[in-house]
Amino acid sequence: MENTPLTGESKTSSPEARKNAHLPGELPGQKPSPEAQNRRPILEIKALNKQFDNFTAVNNVDLTLYEGEIFALLGSSGCGKSTLLRMLAGFEKPTSGSILLDGKELTGIPPYKRPVNMMFQSYALFPYMTVKQNIAFGLKQSKLPSKLIEERVDKMLHLVHMEEYIDRKPYQLSGGQRQRVALARSLAKEPRVLLLDEPMGALDKKLREQMRLELVDIINSVGVTCLMVTHDQEEAMTMADRIAIMDKGDFIQIGGPREIYENPNCRFCAEFIGSVNIFDCHLLSSNAQQSLIKATDFNNLIELSHDIDLADGMPLTIALRPEKVYISHKKPLEETNWCEGVVENIAYLGDISIYYVRLTDGRIVSSTLPNVDRFKEGLPTWDDHVYLSWDPESCIALTF
Ligand code: ATP
Repeated sequence: MENTPLTGESKTSSPEARKNAHLPGELPGQKPSPEAQNRRPILEIKALNKQFDNFTAVNNVDLTLYEGEIFALLGSSGCGKSTLLRMLAGFEKPTSGSILLDGKELTGIPPYKRPVNMMFQSYALFPYMTVKQNIAFGLKQSKLPSKLIEERVDKMLHLVHMEEYIDRKPYQLSGGQRQRVALARSLAKEPRVLLLDEPMGALDKKLREQMRLELVDIINSVGVTCLMVTHDQEEAMTMADRIAIMDKGDFIQIGGPREIYENPNCRFCAEFIGSVNIFDCHLLSSNAQQSLIKATDFNNLIELSHDIDLADGMPLTIALRPEKVYISHKKPLEETNWCEGVVENIAYLGDISIYYVRLTDGRIVSSTLPNVDRFKEGLPTWDDHVYLSWDPESCIALTF
């Protein structure tokens, strides 16, 4: 099991600090942040706001995108992702705030004059045009010399591996091929920023998984900065260098995929990404070496090896990912960091099994086990009495 240290920032930071959290890559395996890589800021969004009548769709958000990064806006339906993207593309007028690209204000510039291109979820390919004509369309609109158009289209066809299909119409292509043409068309004008609206939305699950890394490779090979909108967390985690979790028009947390998963800054983010066991608790005591916490759902105390910046007796939440919960028939020797119950259900998913254990007080706690052996003896089964335990470092203490 992996032990991930908690940082002070995730535990008790203010809403403002949470919103603007851009931590350097400090978790093992975490890609360094763009700031740590000394990348140049390219797009700066400042206090951007969008009201529809009295409804706030995007609430004074600030964001800096860095040269060459892939950034994902992730959030549930209606949280404001597309509205933000549409303001960047110029399809929606901000109520207030500014959008600076390479230091120049974009608001007020019509969409077709912005060095920004958007790939729509539907791909919006012209059905009566061939692959080649679709890719060349924007370049012809910009009245580029025909030789340059020819060269650029060839380059794009090669980039997305579609040289063999130049004369086909969109209806003669598969979903994945249509997506590649749409991408080639969006990249042909060499935008400074590429906007992707649910780039995998029109593909089935299998193809979606296949296309994610291919898309990342293509985007990285041209080095374009990319802002994508998705409600699919796996897609965001696989493709993006950094992710913003949005809710009700606000950025709740910004960070690398690993940081957001291992170090969520609030209960909302912990529950939004992946599965998590959430325990309502209160703090018994805390000092530099140790914090003792009482959960309402079981008797043994939770012990952490760091302090929590909270007064004794105050409520807090402990979040614990199921893959960090050990399950065993044996009672742990320690006095803290375990609870017990009965296996009520097991979900066998092939690569992992999820054990749902009902504690004495009635609540369910989940624990996942990787199925590394095809036939393993002695694993817990239905109705077994089991002990669930965890490392202190696996607990995420949240005060929001
Ligand atoms: P989804 O994932 O479903 O596409 P989203 O996060 O992209 O959702 P938006 O399309 O940005 O959400 O919409 C944010 C909110 O603004 C929603 O509540 C939506 O109803 C509202 N909204 C969007 N466009 C308009 C409009 N033209 N007039 C009024 N309200 C709008």
